[in-house]
Amino acid sequence: MNIYGFTYAQLEEYLRQHGEKVSKAPFIYQGLYKKQIDSLLDVPDIRLSLREQLASDFSLALPRLVQQTDGDDTVKFLFSLQDGSLIEAVLMRQAYGNSLCISSQVGCNMACAFCQSGRFKKVRNLQPAELTGQIIYIQKRLHLAISNVVLMGIGEPFDNYDNVMQFLEIISHPRGLALGARHITVSTCGLVPQIEQYALHPSHGLLAISLHAPDDETRSRLMPINRRYPVTQLMNAARTCIQNTGKKVMLEYVMLQEINDHPRQAQLLADLIGADDFHVNLIPYNETQNLNFTQSSRERILAFYDVLKKNHITVTMRREFGSSVNAACGQLRADYEKQQNT
Ligand code: SAH
Repeated sequence: MNIYGFTYAQLEEYLRQHGEKVSKAPFIYQGLYKKQIDSLLDVPDIRLSLREQLASDFSLALPRLVQQTDGDDTVKFLFSLQDGSLIEAVLMRQAYGNSLCISSQVGCNMACAFCQSGRFKKVRNLQPAELTGQIIYIQKRLHLAISNVVLMGIGEPFDNYDNVMQFLEIISHPRGLALGARHITVSTCGLVPQIEQYALHPSHGLLAISLHAPDDETRSRLMPINRRYPVTQLMNAARTCIQNTGKKVMLEYVMLQEINDHPRQAQLLADLIGADDFHVNLIPYNETQNLNFTQSSRERILAFYDVLKKNHITVTMRREFGSSVNAACGQLRADYEKQQNT
């Protein structure tokens, strides 16, 4: 068992089952997440026999780094997991701290037309320890403090719901990494039942929805999931989340030239949002070699932005993070595999 996949409550349960006091749990969690020990024999302030027991029962294995690509404000990591699966994480240095974008699955089944990750079918879900491991690796091996975590790497987090929830519990625990809900964002392509479930856990983090189109016709063409959960249903689930949590929901909108970037579509988007507490993030499309989509021109993005602004919608434009290091979803893995095959 990998200890980085254990919640604090599970660790307490383990101690109970071994006839130990649960008051040992804080030492173990702090050792792992604050002191960043490399061996359970180094847990401070507990007796040797328990440390030996822990060391024989648990592993502290982390993903293995196979490639690191440094850009201006981004660093891209390609990790190999124990079974050889490849996943990606991207570190974004921002004024307010380091944000880490992590993967939730090996491959992805959502098949969004513009996304490179969708070209690799889902192989499996990541386990909680593999989710936590991406953060621990960066903190421990590169000595970088991570202040924000976003689940926007490869995979659909809500298609791996239970493991992702367990992971969020681990990283938000005050004795561990202690990341507050406002520092965690889960991004989904729109799995409505899971959004409704997530809305019942206000402490777990913020929600981002990859909307990318305000009408069913365009959205279904771009994102097959829309045929199952159309826009109105998706927006209603998002509203439930806003009502239950009292927090804004972010709508991500990747700008694709002549596909979803017409001012008419901006108006539709504004009407869809109305006066509700959404925040739209316009993202320049990161062009990928194998897919036939073009990044919207700056003029078209600005015109789209203006329509939203005039309608009093909260909107930001994301800087084009990571294009110099091929940071768009799935691009690094695709490049790496191409290199291996040539
Ligand atoms: N499955 C989740 C999270 C992973 S994708 C989701 O769909 O939200 C993270 C974000 O990157 C999504 O908004 C996705 O649509 C977007 N994305 C995918 N490929 C992209 C590209 N080439 N350029 C810009 N954004 C992209």
